[in-house]
Amino acid sequence: MPISTELLIGDVEPFSIVDFPDHIAAVAFLQGCPWRCPFCYNTSLQPLKAEGEPMWTAEKFFAFLERRKGFLDAVVFSGGEPLVQKGLKNAMKIAKDLGYTVGLHTGGYYPNALKEVLPFCDWVGLDIKGPSLKYQALTGGFAAFDEMSKSLDLLLESGVAFECRTTCDPRLLNADDLLSIGAFLKEKGVKAYYLQKYRPTEADRSTTDEMCESLISDAKAVDFLKENFKKFDVRR
Ligand code: SF4
Repeated sequence: MPISTELLIGDVEPFSIVDFPDHIAAVAFLQGCPWRCPFCYNTSLQPLKAEGEPMWTAEKFFAFLERRKGFLDAVVFSGGEPLVQKGLKNAMKIAKDLGYTVGLHTGGYYPNALKEVLPFCDWVGLDIKGPSLKYQALTGGFAAFDEMSKSLDLLLESGVAFECRTTCDPRLLNADDLLSIGAFLKEKGVKAYYLQKYRPTEADRSTTDEMCESLISDAKAVDFLKENFKKFDVRR
């Protein structure tokens, strides 16, 4: 079985019912991310190379998938930003050959890499960090809205099932931003959009649960999003 050694796995969630809608999935969190989002929960995945010996090699992960055939039905490649990994396409092919449905989580920073792997994806979760003017702050210094928008266009053209979602960090986003993102996605023709509650990271001592809850409960934004997306929900 040819497995690219360029697939660097930071961690694996062996059983998940929340990472791929209506599927029981194993999730491979791939190492490396170009961004430095202030609300990142996976900072250990940001460097391209993890410190120390990896707990999961590609070989170990695919041996695990081989054993779990029949118990799991999907494999999700998440991150970090999985599209930084050159071995991703090959890994998706292997997962498909094993009989798994394949999902991808991405921030959309690499539209060319997304185009390469889309034929092997059955579903994609695309993170929309915020409205265009705030992208630089939301991604830790990268003005990456245009790349994300190109990735979104590719998804829409491809016919691959996908959802968009936004982590609602009240330090950076407000209700007007949620309305603005919603209007952008509606205009594009997106059908499924989700708000995700931000849970303060260890480094964030100032944001309260009340502040997080208040943003995702904003009546005007929630009503607008409910009205304009076939699938919409708030994930807490
Ligand atoms: S894109 Fe994801 S992994 Fe990368 S810095 Fe942002 S939250 Fe962290």
